[in-house]
Amino acid sequence: MLRNAFTPCSMAQDTIFHKIVRREIPADIVYEDDAVLVFRDIHPKAPLHLLFIAKHDEDFVSSIDDLTENTAHVPGLLIQAAQRFAKEHGIKGYQLRFHVGKDGGQEVFYLHLHFLSNQKLTEEQ
Ligand code: 5GP
Repeated sequence: MLRNAFTPCSMAQDTIFHKIVRREIPADIVYEDDAVLVFRDIHPKAPLHLLFIAKHDEDFVSSIDDLTENTAHVPGLLIQAAQRFAKEHGIKGYQLRFHVGKDGGQEVFYLHLHFLSNQKLTEEQ
């Protein structure tokens, strides 16, 4: 059973990705577990372009720039999820990116890991 994500107290800092987690807006979700949600980027920059986010309130952080002791584990959580996802789908090469801050190209202030690959998922081939 999946835990409920996002209690009302998290709504002060609401982004489009919070709405995706709460299923208020649609997204092409390709993977979900208790901690992580993975969906396709709406404007893909590679044949496969996914976004990895942490689902739970206590793991919310807006940006790498805002990490604290309490959220320092979150980038590792996302990277490990990406590594597992790639292994499970036989994706041999990929790029992982965090955009940090407006000047770093960050548009959505909900920490997310970009996963880009020239290799598509098998169901798309
Ligand atoms: P950033 O530039 O903040 O690192 O990346 C945000 C990414 O989110 C962009 O690549 C953008 O295309 C994607 N994005 C923005 N809005 C939506 C949306 O509503 N749905 C999905 N699936 N992706 C989005």
